[in-house]
Amino acid sequence: MRYCNQCGKMTAGEPLYCSHCGRTYDVRLCPRQHVSPRGAQVCARCGSRELSTPQPAIPIALRFLALMARLVLGLLLFYATLSVLIALARSPQVRELAVACGILLGVLWMLWSKLPDWSKEALRDFWIKRRQNDDE
Ligand SMILES: [Zn+2]
Ligand SMILES: [Zn+2]
Repeated sequence: MRYCNQCGKMTAGEPLYCSHCGRTYDVRLCPRQHVSPRGAQVCARCGSRELSTPQPAIPIALRFLALMARLVLGLLLFYATLSVLIALARSPQVRELAVACGILLGVLWMLWSKLPDWSKEALRDFWIKRRQNDDE
């Protein structure tokens, strides 16, 4: 039994494709069922470009939450950075503390920028769906 992150339905057994929306699980499959990683454009074994669409990495409901969490974290970090800068400008005595905070914040910013970009994937899915609806 596998859970599909795209449509939120279960498919019995050990399926390669979701039986409801036709997406593959964490891989892309060519018509000959060769397995390619999620990011592949062409099958490495037969060169086919007709790869299946994989399901999203995380469930659709969670994606929105993850996006919000990322935005909130970004805002918090921005606010903290601003506070440190303001404190530094106001009283030179806290400089050492501010430098320590600055280093910590730098590391946090770096981690934040390394978070997977769910928003991009969500947007792409949205556009693909829009286009498919227009075609019908
Ligand atoms: Zn599905
Ligand atoms: Zn292939």
